[in-house]
Amino acid sequence: MRLVQRTSLRPEARAARDFLAIEGLPLDELRALLARAEELLPVAVGDARGERTLEGRVVANIFFEDSTRTRVSFEIAADRLGAAVVNLGASGSSASKGETLVDTARNIDAMGVDAIVVRTSISGGAALVARHVGCPVINAGDGRHEHPTQALLDALALRLRLGKLDGRRVAIVGDIANSRVARSATHALVALGAHVHIVGPPSLVPVGFAQIASGAGSISITHDLDSIIHDLDAIMMLRIQMERAAASGIAPDYRAAYGLTSARRARLRPEAILLHPGPVNRGLEIDDEVADDPRSSVILAQVSCGVAARMAVLLRAMPS
Ligand code: ASP
Repeated sequence: MRLVQRTSLRPEARAARDFLAIEGLPLDELRALLARAEELLPVAVGDARGERTLEGRVVANIFFEDSTRTRVSFEIAADRLGAAVVNLGASGSSASKGETLVDTARNIDAMGVDAIVVRTSISGGAALVARHVGCPVINAGDGRHEHPTQALLDALALRLRLGKLDGRRVAIVGDIANSRVARSATHALVALGAHVHIVGPPSLVPVGFAQIASGAGSISITHDLDSIIHDLDAIMMLRIQMERAAASGIAPDYRAAYGLTSARRARLRPEAILLHPGPVNRGLEIDDEVADDPRSSVILAQVSCGVAARMAVLLRAMPS
């Protein structure tokens, strides 16, 4: 038997199937993914049975950085669609012996998987993998760069509560500098017509962040949360990224200035909603009772939306 070299996707097919970033994603594709995710929501949360469209396909989750929500929801999303999943972490794989991300991905690709989902601490790591493997690649968070499926789930959770995002005012608060969530969400929300307030201490807000995205919406930066809080439709609190050295940018009064304390929450409009990508540092960026308040917090709805968003992205990666 002759060994077969896998054929790579052609560049046009790669653009239509990889999901590496929200930046540069055409608006009609973003809208189509959101619409598909919304349709899939009942199947995603187990309220309805869907077609097992991906029966016979194999998805590899290569997670070289820790994750709870993202890894499990990719796994559930693949399972709901009938695909088999293999999970690979840094510990328990040859990454612990020094094998690089690209070598690991190339080896998994050579086993004939149909898609690779990659989480890495390397900014740009998902695109790097995509340049070296034949199958489609989905970015599940790469360093400080992007977390595009998180942006889809954020936009979906917002849409379910607010309707159209056009003209809505959304604040993204906290460790902007280290946050792939903030970057991807900003690209998606501006594309969908929202006004994004970027809020945080000067040490954690990169100069020039207001220029990162363009679209029907807009971006402004402020270091004073209290000056805008009364005017918001939604507030997204970010986790301080201790593992990315953010601690050095946090002053002792961080919680007093930027935390969503119970006292500060009282200044939000009653219908304003609260998002957080998780994991939450309770008592630092959000007080317990605010995080758990079912009237305003959509944190768990975001998690449900995550399964639907990832189903939509897996279907795009592996069209029938
Ligand atoms: N879970 C998100 C991420 O992986 C947010 C966070 O970790 O703070 O980027």
